[in-house]
Amino acid sequence: MLMNTYARMPVRFVSGRGARLTDDAGRSYIDFLAGIAVASVGHAHPLVAAAVAEQAATLIHVSNFFSTIPQERLAGELAELTGGMYSFFCNSGAESIEAALKLARKHGRAQGRDATRIVCAEGGFHGRTFGALSATGQPSKQAPFEPLVGGFVHVPYGDAAALEDVMDDGVAAVLLEPIQGEAGVVIPPSDYLASARKLCDETGALLILDEVQTGLGRTGAWFAWEHDGVSPDVMCLAKALAGGLPIGACLSTPKAAVFAPGDHATTFGGGPVQSAAALATLEVIKAEGLVGRAHVAGARLAAMLSAAFPDAAVRGRGLLLALEFERDVAHDIVERALGAGLVLNATSPTTLRICPPLVITDEELDHGFEILKEVTGAVLSTT
Ligand SMILES: *Cc1c(COP(=O)(O)O)cnc(C)c1O
Repeated sequence: MLMNTYARMPVRFVSGRGARLTDDAGRSYIDFLAGIAVASVGHAHPLVAAAVAEQAATLIHVSNFFSTIPQERLAGELAELTGGMYSFFCNSGAESIEAALKLARKHGRAQGRDATRIVCAEGGFHGRTFGALSATGQPSKQAPFEPLVGGFVHVPYGDAAALEDVMDDGVAAVLLEPIQGEAGVVIPPSDYLASARKLCDETGALLILDEVQTGLGRTGAWFAWEHDGVSPDVMCLAKALAGGLPIGACLSTPKAAVFAPGDHATTFGGGPVQSAAALATLEVIKAEGLVGRAHVAGARLAAMLSAAFPDAAVRGRGLLLALEFERDVAHDIVERALGAGLVLNATSPTTLRICPPLVITDEELDHGFEILKEVTGAVLSTT
């Protein structure tokens, strides 16, 4: 028996290819969820599958007492993509946040100003472990598990003045999503991240950007912070990084990389198979031009959604989109769409999130869109 942690949809998927999934009754679906922004290169990408199979048949695990070639190569690839950031590998988004929080506290102390406070945003989501949950700005997810970790302050997202009000010498880091994913694809004002960058520079606090959901091409840029022309001191990655295998990465500028041996560790982090999968995933993103594809396909889909649903708000960037209705119809739409062959997700009773694999073809996008249009029309006319 499984613990009762998920309200599961009544479908059992058995295989996938690109942006399509197949269930145990042989029914085919268009995937507008990508396993929650994970399957960016599509399901069962042959190059990722081959890299995993080959690495699994060669070396699966040796512990981080030893270097491995896949892990070293992956750190090199990420350094190349980020202007020279150093990597710490773990196994999930929440773990990448935990690493960032510890790094920020150590960095704050190393500066000799005993800065320990972490400033986060209301509505933000950073994961379910205690540190990440304490950073998360959603009281409903936190309340059952109090007391939380101390030293976290939450300010309204997108409000630079509110951020400025809490910035002082005791702040170790500001931790933000460049676009709030779980909150329903919330985009801050265009100068918000630049203001946060400036406030961090003035106080010595680190700017940590949680790119777990937005990173690696999803928004039409390698990293969402590129849209705002700022760069972080620390960045968290996970979801799409290894094409569906569990991995997380906490990256930092060389200057902020203050960990020493013994400070932080994880048994499985950056293991050979996950690293090989990540290398193949990054290779596919480059070879298939998926960053540009996310931009083009996302703009096209956003325009189609805006035209089809004049009463709903469409927002997002690249292939991370949300459709916000005035009524509580999102869960109904998700359920009926699944029955009609489209996988979708609601981040709230009024909000649909749309984040297909970046490899989705125009034809698949059109097909998914037609199902969404039809199902939504039916729900809106009966509720
Ligand atoms: C999903 C997510 C996390 C948590 O990742 P897990 O792998 O589920 O622990 C953290 N931050 C953001 C922005 C996310 O979307």
